[in-house]
Amino acid sequence: MDIRAEVVEMAQEAERQGLIKYKSGNFSVRDKYSGYIYITPSGIARRNLLPEMISVLDQNGKILSSPYKPSVEYLMHVKIYQKRDDVYAICHSHSLYATTFAIAGMEIPPVSREAVHYGAITIPVADYAKPGTEELADNVVKALQGYDCCLLKSHGVVTVGENAEDAIIKLIYVEENAKEFFNLTLLGAKFQPISL
Ligand SMILES: [Zn+2]
Repeated sequence: MDIRAEVVEMAQEAERQGLIKYKSGNFSVRDKYSGYIYITPSGIARRNLLPEMISVLDQNGKILSSPYKPSVEYLMHVKIYQKRDDVYAICHSHSLYATTFAIAGMEIPPVSREAVHYGAITIPVADYAKPGTEELADNVVKALQGYDCCLLKSHGVVTVGENAEDAIIKLIYVEENAKEFFNLTLLGAKFQPISL
């Protein structure tokens, strides 16, 4: 699949899964050959996204082509790719349960088998910084050292993967696991965190 179409599919799949609403969240794929970053634009409802609306940046974040403004969080994507040469796709959303824990500043333990999709780790929380800032990008890069997902304090969640499908699957299961952990907490139930 063409990379632009792949990025559109990521955003639309996230919306179908109920992980983003309307214009929120941002998604990118890095081209293995050129190293260029293909990222969703800001201000376009995800259901109306077309491949030609996707922004293209170089490895340093220089805009090569962008019919619309690139995502406000493009610096976060650029810095993650710079630090993680194993990462070729990134998702960011404000999915309800993961974001609830992000607001609370609480890490999420791996409670169900589905957590193996993101390494069965306890999901860390990146320190707070204003959206769209270099400080936020740096905080997220730091939190992702050795992890493929993290919460953004008082904001949302980021997952990274070796390709678009891998990053989306992690986003789906981080939310599932967050919901299960939330429900277990409500039940006051004891549980054993799972491991790989
Ligand atoms: Zn956000």
